[in-house]
Amino acid sequence: MEKDNLLEISDLTVQYNTDDAVVHAVNHFNLNLVRGEARGLVGETGAGKTTLALSILRLLPERVGEVVGGSIRYNGEELLTLPEAEMLPLRGKKISMIFQDPMTSLNPTHTVGDQILEVLDLHFPEMTKAEKAARVDEMMTLVGIPPERKGSFPHEFSGGMKQRIVIAMALVAEPELLLADEPTTALDVTIQAQILELMRQLKEKFNTSVMLITHDLGVVAQFCDSVSVVYAGRVVESGPVEAVFERKANHPYTAGLFNCIPDLNDNQPRLRPIPGHMADPRVVHEGCCFADRCEFATDRCRKEPPVMHTCGDHGILCHLYENKEEF
Ligand code: SF4
Repeated sequence: MEKDNLLEISDLTVQYNTDDAVVHAVNHFNLNLVRGEARGLVGETGAGKTTLALSILRLLPERVGEVVGGSIRYNGEELLTLPEAEMLPLRGKKISMIFQDPMTSLNPTHTVGDQILEVLDLHFPEMTKAEKAARVDEMMTLVGIPPERKGSFPHEFSGGMKQRIVIAMALVAEPELLLADEPTTALDVTIQAQILELMRQLKEKFNTSVMLITHDLGVVAQFCDSVSVVYAGRVVESGPVEAVFERKANHPYTAGLFNCIPDLNDNQPRLRPIPGHMADPRVVHEGCCFADRCEFATDRCRKEPPVMHTCGDHGILCHLYENKEEF
């Protein structure tokens, strides 16, 4: 294991076994997360990003979701074979998750203070009542909500404030790893910027590693150190944000995502969306999973799966980069 890797995912393959078909959600997925790093996981809806996060926490739907291969090592320890009793203290304490929609993440029948307190009750039985109460107040202050409001219920807050409460719950135990699944998607742009800034401050304060799941490259540029672009359950490109966003060399899918972003300096009459739809996850592809949508696809692409070609920390899963030493 690399010295400062907090999370190492190798060759992870996850499927959903439904009555009608097997859905191949995550396919031979590789990712390393360095301690203190913020990595963006970007891709269209259905790319397998949330399945990956649920696999890390071992929260895949019972009987339907199945990890069929690979490894998830956290602090050098294999999570996939860890007894459930050892997994429980990790969830919510060492590894925490923020879900997309704060409306459904909070219990409407409990006050927000009680919901933050519950995390402490569960993971820190050694703390006194007064210590826990002080910690709840401190956390509410940190996320910008007056502690006097801890007796209020979720419906008494706006969407942005609810997401702040969810962040307080996710960070009150000072986790080492935060999985943030589209934490700003349900919010308007102004609140989105505030929440990202808050997450950045808290990440620095607690030295938390963050895996930020998003479909928004702008959010990645604002928040992350590195990015993995995910298509059909695979990492098709990964690297430092500067290298990927430089746009000198990209996987055709990443290039397509960039082309979907309006450029105010470019007098372009229309955006250029990626043609076609996300690859059918029920189908096992013989060659490149992006071939049906790729303008550079050749016969070889349809028959032979590409391998990851790397230049420093920048990797691209595409035949086009086969003999390129630098990109
Ligand atoms: Fe396109 Fe071929 Fe590269 Fe796949 S391997 S992205 S089809 S050029």
